[in-house]
Amino acid sequence: MQEFLSLRAFSGNQDDLVAFLESNFPRQTRVLNPRLAARIPESKSVEIRVPLNSHAFQEINGFIESKRNQNIDGYKYVTTTVMRKYSESDLQSAEILLLTIRSHFEPSGEECGTIYETLCNECNWGRQVSDLILDLRRVPQHKDISETIAWVEWVVSSKFVRTFAENKLTGAEFRPIFEFKNPTKQSKEWHQLRVTGKAGELAETTKLGRDPFSPSQVSWRCPLGHAVATQFLSEIYLHRNAWDGSDIAITGALFGQGRNLLRPAPLIIISQRMYRVLQEAGLKGFSYEIAHLV
Ligand SMILES: [Zn+2]
Repeated sequence: MQEFLSLRAFSGNQDDLVAFLESNFPRQTRVLNPRLAARIPESKSVEIRVPLNSHAFQEINGFIESKRNQNIDGYKYVTTTVMRKYSESDLQSAEILLLTIRSHFEPSGEECGTIYETLCNECNWGRQVSDLILDLRRVPQHKDISETIAWVEWVVSSKFVRTFAENKLTGAEFRPIFEFKNPTKQSKEWHQLRVTGKAGELAETTKLGRDPFSPSQVSWRCPLGHAVATQFLSEIYLHRNAWDGSDIAITGALFGQGRNLLRPAPLIIISQRMYRVLQEAGLKGFSYEIAHLV
């Protein structure tokens, strides 16, 4: 597995960082908006990608850390993503994997008439209390799994449902979806994925944080303890005893700072068996990371 950091820096309040990246890493630093930046230099934004275990990362970390130590505006929040790349044999030897849905669409179910009960006004954790109603013309037609911008509405194709049943996979039920334009009409092609399998809570070994630079806390926590807005600075670790062994399961912990239509969502964990079934069937719309049972 290789871990990479993607970091973006913006002129205006991160001028020093933009200049630091461009002078120290000229080959790796890319201007994201070259035409606009040529006309209005103050609008320039740049991106760099470096391996986390590299000397380049250490240098960037040192730069950000010193800015943070001096409490300089513009460095408390920096825009980062941590990416993990795996070989096929890494993925095939993992006991469990984190599944991330890559395709998103709108409008959300709530905008189409799906009813929710909001259970927490701080993090917007909610419970869906009606069948899912969606504008089905907006579902990405060539993906077998996608989600709305609400984060918690997962739509799968009938091929996904058939593959799941034929292989006797466990941990999910499939609910009907009704068409926004005609709410008595149930879709034949699309179904709502409701995961019933339980993966338990994250083990403490899982590293959470706003970004990989030190010191870094999580971005936000629901004061009532339901949800956390964070990046995952390590792979996901789960307690072996708390995972119910389902081929697909969700964590008890919820992630994301919900508001309005957005609801905090659990992580989706799948078994190696399900990974192989999805790969062999050629189903599309997600990516994987390795997760661990400890
Ligand atoms: Zn909450």
